[in-house]
Amino acid sequence: MFKFVDEYRDKDLCRRLAEGIIGISKKPFTIMEVCGGHTMSIRKNGIHKLIGSNIKLVSGPGCPVCVTSQKDIDKAIALARLNNVVVCTFGDMVDVPGTSVTLAEVKAEKGNVRVVYSVQDVLSFAKNEPDKHFVFIGIGFETTAPTIAAAIMQAKAEKIKNFSVLALNKTMPAALKAVLEDKDAKINALISPGHVSTITGTGIYKFIVDDLRISCCVAGFEPADILRAIYLLAELRENNKVSLINAYERAVKENGNEKAKYIMYEVFDSADAEWRGFGVIPASGLRIRKEFADLDAEKIFKIDVGASKEIKGCICGDILRGIKEPKNCKLFGQKCTPMKPQGACMVSSEGTCAAWYKYGE
Ligand code: SF4
Repeated sequence: MFKFVDEYRDKDLCRRLAEGIIGISKKPFTIMEVCGGHTMSIRKNGIHKLIGSNIKLVSGPGCPVCVTSQKDIDKAIALARLNNVVVCTFGDMVDVPGTSVTLAEVKAEKGNVRVVYSVQDVLSFAKNEPDKHFVFIGIGFETTAPTIAAAIMQAKAEKIKNFSVLALNKTMPAALKAVLEDKDAKINALISPGHVSTITGTGIYKFIVDDLRISCCVAGFEPADILRAIYLLAELRENNKVSLINAYERAVKENGNEKAKYIMYEVFDSADAEWRGFGVIPASGLRIRKEFADLDAEKIFKIDVGASKEIKGCICGDILRGIKEPKNCKLFGQKCTPMKPQGACMVSSEGTCAAWYKYGE
């Protein structure tokens, strides 16, 4: 383990790892990098071009904005159209096309959408502007759910009545199972998400190794982290072994962050959730427990959005399932660009289409 981040970007080290990967990879092998942060790093550093032709890297469902279903985007938009309600969300979400408009367009029309950096900002708004109701759009995986849970607990303790959360948070294991059991995807190994693993620990991947017989390697986000993970997975494959490896030892422990998990499940119950591209995946989401129902936007407001529709031609869902790539989309780089995104994967700073557009194929 190195001491400084620059050491994980060392060109000679990366070159040696890449040469090692090419040297040991004799069989065709598809690795899914689950996390959008990994996708960005791979494209930015050209890792996919350094590892030879036997290894293919495909992106997975680890970008929180991208996997938010069209219906859930429409729910956020419906909330923003209510009088006296202010919808607060992270930056990327405002530009994701809903069925008819984006949150950014509602903001331009009504002014009641605010971009925030943290759910704590929303609690401050609620305290300072008691005449408005503030709804935070809770997206993300196990990484962000504990801080949202802590904010809900704080609002309850401080009796903040004009704050609620539209809980769209998701959890990884069931979605990974859906990806790996998908016959069209044909994934041989996973680079497991680093940030999620800091909270969950590595234990959540054991079923993938034990039951599905697919190797997983938890990795950090620097080029040497990712190349090392690919090397370790390729080595397992060439030796016909299946294993769970933690190659992000500096941040991830086997049991993760027990306190964060405790807070998360004090506030949330496991629930079925709808994912873009997958439909409803059982036990893959987080629902606010009934003890906190007065802070649950779904319970406070009647949100009926009717039928939701994605932009015709957008294949974001297939990209998130690892069965297509941005180059397979007819709209990519033509009708769909970061300046005029047609789907969530082009909007998000962790989206696969955005990564391909920014750094090239
Ligand atoms: S390029 Fe745009 S339209 Fe095509 S899949 Fe990606 S986000 Fe969707």
